[in-house]
Amino acid sequence: MDLFEHQARELFERYGVLVPRAEVAGSAPAARAAAERLGGRVVVKAQVKTGGRGKAGGVKLAADPAAAELTARQILGMDIKGHTVHQVMVAEPVEVEREFYVGYTLDRARGRFLAIASAEGGMEIEEVAARRPEAVARIAVDPEEGVTEAKAAEIAAAGGLPAEAAATLHRLWTVLTEQDALLVEVNPLVVTRGGAIVALDGKVTLDDNADFRRTYAYEDTGGAGLEAEAAAKGLNYVKLDGEVGVIGNGAGLVMSTLDVVAGCGARPADFLDIGGGASAEVMADGLSVVLGDPHVRSVLVNVFGGITACDAVAEGIVRALDTVTLTKPLVVRLDGNSAARGRAILTERAHPLVHQVDTMDGAAARAAELAAVAA
Ligand code: GDP
Ligand code: MN
Repeated sequence: MDLFEHQARELFERYGVLVPRAEVAGSAPAARAAAERLGGRVVVKAQVKTGGRGKAGGVKLAADPAAAELTARQILGMDIKGHTVHQVMVAEPVEVEREFYVGYTLDRARGRFLAIASAEGGMEIEEVAARRPEAVARIAVDPEEGVTEAKAAEIAAAGGLPAEAAATLHRLWTVLTEQDALLVEVNPLVVTRGGAIVALDGKVTLDDNADFRRTYAYEDTGGAGLEAEAAAKGLNYVKLDGEVGVIGNGAGLVMSTLDVVAGCGARPADFLDIGGGASAEVMADGLSVVLGDPHVRSVLVNVFGGITACDAVAEGIVRALDTVTLTKPLVVRLDGNSAARGRAILTERAHPLVHQVDTMDGAAARAAELAAVAA
């Protein structure tokens, strides 16, 4: 589970990492009131679980509470890479002297953690990493040893960060380990005019496998987002930026379906793995979540029948069509166990918006084509 910036901010604060004073607001008047409490001049920041908010116009400075209200009105409801802004964080502005990048993540291939640090933090970090990888230091962290104070100093030095940043690096490591996080990223970590080391942004991904021992429950305060709706229905759904809705059985198949859709020149709108069962209820729930995404222009259902045979999946789709009103074309590819029977069931149902294509490549191409036509 990804945390919102304001949740990461709170977490950092609990571990002694300096963060700007801030409040969360769900309306423009609430943003104004928050600005009044924070001293007037504030930064208004969209709370969405995606990066690049600054470039998208979702991070803005407001000179006074009235400006904060106006700015919040502009940012609330904005769409940033397919994420609707339901809340803003109103924060005390920080006088930035220099911006750095720091992050901890897993290096699965090497069975290690990885510390990443750069003296060229800020909104251009992706370009820096792509064009001048030497400007971004990557230091392996032994999971048994962790980030000791000496290791933190080593990471700071390698990344060209001031020596004073080592204490913050050490605290962020404690956030990662104590909170069972898979990722802790701060971009930018700044040195202020006054010389303080402050986390101006925060991205934290918690390991869902550790939910059972987590004492602190993170509320998904993003409003009734599609991911929250899907989670409530027990679906394995991840919202993406594109137009082709994707539903499949099995995480591996769904991941390759995303690639094939992208290979057809379209962009997947989501990852949705309906798992082995694929009952009518799960199919109906999945379809309603995917169709609830306003960016979706076509939906691709890619199923390889295994223990759950294709005729059962086809029955599930047919019964789902009784409860969900199809508003977009649905391309179905059934293969594997009992594919012929499954296809016959869908053919018999003869829904005008349901298209059957028997190969994965062909079905993805068809879904991409239908999405382009609908554009
Ligand atoms: P992101 O674009 O989604 O990564 O959002 P950030 O939270 O990183 O904000 C984007 C950029 O706005 C940062 O890289 C900073 O350069 C700038 N920014 C954010 N808050 C402040 C602030 O309080 N003071 C100053 N000077 N810049 C800020
Ligand atoms: Mn950032």
